[in-house]
Amino acid sequence: SVDSDNAADAIRVRVAVRLRPKNNEDFIEDGDFTSCVELQPEAKKLRLKKNNWSSELYKFDEVFTEGASQRRIYEAVAKPVVESVLEGYNGTVMAYGQTGTGKTYTMGRLGKDDPSERGIMVRALEDILASISSLTDFVAISYLQLYLESLQDLLAPDKINIPIVEDPKSGDVSLPGAAVVELRDIDHFNELLQFGEANRYAANTKLNTESSRSHAILVVHVQRSVKVKDENEGASVVSSTDDLLAASNHVPIVLKSKLLIVDLAGSERIDKSGSVEGPMLEEAKFINLSLTSLGKCINALAENSPYIPTRDSKLTRLLRDSFGGTARTSLIITIGPSARYYSETSSTILFGQRAM
Ligand code: ADP
Ligand code: MG
Repeated sequence: SVDSDNAADAIRVRVAVRLRPKNNEDFIEDGDFTSCVELQPEAKKLRLKKNNWSSELYKFDEVFTEGASQRRIYEAVAKPVVESVLEGYNGTVMAYGQTGTGKTYTMGRLGKDDPSERGIMVRALEDILASISSLTDFVAISYLQLYLESLQDLLAPDKINIPIVEDPKSGDVSLPGAAVVELRDIDHFNELLQFGEANRYAANTKLNTESSRSHAILVVHVQRSVKVKDENEGASVVSSTDDLLAASNHVPIVLKSKLLIVDLAGSERIDKSGSVEGPMLEEAKFINLSLTSLGKCINALAENSPYIPTRDSKLTRLLRDSFGGTARTSLIITIGPSARYYSETSSTILFGQRAM
């Protein structure tokens, strides 16, 4: 990846790794704890230790220690994408990692008791809502979960099989029938997010599964009108897109864009022991399918391939117009410190490396 923040397509996929603080799960029965990772945040490197003799060093765009604040994560990982969405480009921010490593903490935390814990979703919506200035501007959201290749509306829980439709001309992806709720303010968003989370929990209890087995997808639609000023006046030209430059001075232009914030299903391989059967095996197959297909797309993006293979899963079909091209993508991979989960941590890190 090129290290420039200005050109919308200079960085295809920005990849950050976040280590969560150690918890009880990380200890083995006799109270023993061994760490398998060593971070070098300044060098943006991470050493993964297989044992005392063998380790591997990996480089990322950002490396966050267990002490990194939610605010720092937002500013480094999501804010550049949010800014580009406000300039009229689509964008995606995703969290990938084993269950229990902090994906939902990073993305979906409301921070009701402690505002410093607000996650990426809340902070992104705060920034987006703050940029709304004219009466015709709006911000609207949909919130969905993808489980076993079925897309369910978390804001209208009776809608359980929402189609994913791609406009053959524009390439725009739409979700006919999904609730699209225009936001009044950030409190309204927090209410909807909480309502969506409750529905996610209820839906998964009914299906007898864990929410960690589904992908949660927040779609943010933004429409803003901006006035383009003459460059000679030295004032703020809002964007450098061809559209904007071609437009005549002082004419308001309507920018429409979409931001996807995705809390992916746990990346652990639940079928690796071979002891899993029935519905659990179905789940594992579908999760493997969507994450494998996501990996292929991210890999193609990183290699600047003209062809991004998005047709293989609903997850990637849904993302189609929001990564690649002029869209910006950030991926945050979350890991725990314990050697107990070395192999899951290793596969998460390799997934992140494929994106670079
Ligand atoms: P996941 O969504 O990946 O399954 P969670 O976000 O639910 O993981 O995190 C698992 C547990 O670890 C939760 O109790 C969460 O509050 C805690 N946790 C995760 N990341 C952090 C962090 N950076 N700081 C403090 N607690 C964290
Ligand atoms: Mg979670």
